[in-house]
Amino acid sequence: MADTKYIFVTGGVISSLGKGIIASSLGKLLQARGYKVTIQKLDPYINIDPGTLNPYEHGECYVTVDGHEADLDLGHYERFLNQPTHRDNNITTGRIYQNVINKERKGDYLGKTVQIVPHITDEIRRNIKALGTKYDYDFVITEIGGTVGDIESLPFIESVRQLRWDLGKNCLCVHLTYVPYIAAAQEVKTKPTQHSVKQLQESGVQPDMLVLRTEHLLNKDILRKVALFCNVDVDAVVQSVDVSTIYEVPIRMQEQGMDEIILRKMGMPIGEKPAMQPWREFLDKKKNAKETVRIGLVGKYVELPDAYKSINESLLQATIYNDRKLDLQFIQSDKVTEANVEELLSSMDGIIIAPGFGQRGIEGKFIALKYARENNKPTFGICLGMQCMVIEYARNVLGLKEANSTEMEPHTPYNVIDLMEEQKNITNLGGSMRLGAYKCKLQKGSLGYKAYGKELIEERHRHRFEFNNDYKKQFEENGMKCTGINPDTGLVEVVEVPALKWFVGVQYHPEYNSTVISPNPLFMSFIKAVVENK
Ligand code: GLN
Repeated sequence: MADTKYIFVTGGVISSLGKGIIASSLGKLLQARGYKVTIQKLDPYINIDPGTLNPYEHGECYVTVDGHEADLDLGHYERFLNQPTHRDNNITTGRIYQNVINKERKGDYLGKTVQIVPHITDEIRRNIKALGTKYDYDFVITEIGGTVGDIESLPFIESVRQLRWDLGKNCLCVHLTYVPYIAAAQEVKTKPTQHSVKQLQESGVQPDMLVLRTEHLLNKDILRKVALFCNVDVDAVVQSVDVSTIYEVPIRMQEQGMDEIILRKMGMPIGEKPAMQPWREFLDKKKNAKETVRIGLVGKYVELPDAYKSINESLLQATIYNDRKLDLQFIQSDKVTEANVEELLSSMDGIIIAPGFGQRGIEGKFIALKYARENNKPTFGICLGMQCMVIEYARNVLGLKEANSTEMEPHTPYNVIDLMEEQKNITNLGGSMRLGAYKCKLQKGSLGYKAYGKELIEERHRHRFEFNNDYKKQFEENGMKCTGINPDTGLVEVVEVPALKWFVGVQYHPEYNSTVISPNPLFMSFIKAVVENK
């Protein structure tokens, strides 16, 4: 491959139209044709990364293998493309400014007034291009966060304008807009799309392709009208109608020839239309599943499903591969009491105790865990969920009534979960947790070992607290086994109660490592246990 091609995905009219899904679908289609593809997200906010953001603000914080706290769209990119992303795949305005200001302090711009154009836009362009050259990709798809017209995204759009000038045929812009349906008039309306394209044109960017998000199928006349008003080829106006699963979007885009249009416009060989076989098999499995499994996710951000995005998707994938439908119930941890736990959890086939931070809702997690353990329900604790498993076990099985994590109670007499040694002198909260992929050695014969089918695994982390090894012997003698250990540090990564059917806690986040093509083994094992237990 001679030159890397750059494709930008911008959005207009309203936010939350699914630019990430469109970018991922296009990436998937190009990848299926044998191209090396990556997807990048540019976020217009000033935070250096989303690690310090509350999930209410921004949904889940995703973590890459190289330990970057990233936008949740990177999760979609990985789930679709089945390949890891890295720190370079997610850049925020904050990071761009930080780099420029650091360079200014070093004297790199000596004698110059440092300005948005050219210095900020140069830094943006450098970050976009660097991704292509560093890893030798055929295609870099860059999703621009926010909506065209936002003050914050202006420097990004200006950088797109410059890059199009710079790269010529090697650069292209896909613009995603919304076509609303007015029920009273029984009509779809294209005016917002026209305005949004006009806004993009005012910034000097002419889109090459339009994707119209719509709830109702649009007829050819509508697509022709949009093409005419927006200076876009008729065949380059495609639609994205609401579908029952995001994983169907690549197929819908393929039907409309999205990848072919892109390749033709970029002067690339088109070749055979890929069969998308493993992908279609997955969708068929989803369609054909009849029986349902009901999973209760006990966490504190239940009003906002995006807060646990990767867990939802990992559960969905594992359920589909186990030929079942997923009925996922969100249970707000601070609402769980001794009095209602039976009512809330008895109909669940399996229980997940969610990751999280801080005190709120923590006692509800202990109550849910006690119920799950005493009723031998398949139960999966993730990160804070695993820590809660350990605390509940300490309190109710080891008899250490005031056991806790020092995160919740710094003066607990039984600190079964404690701050990691290397965390003790950290004062800056941004990007300073134990982050990214670490090794874990699984004990032969354990549920973890059986699930992964091997001894040495790597999974991603995002935490400051850990299992306190001073208590390890006491736990093991009383039935909770430490079956996964980091071979370099001795940190406990997996706990299990072998006397129960499936009661596993993991300090890591297996949900960051589960894709349509390779679902996470531990989620697969959990759902299998749920199915067998039903
Ligand atoms: N709050 C816990 C810690 O910092 C768990 C974090 C998590 O669930 N991601 O260790």
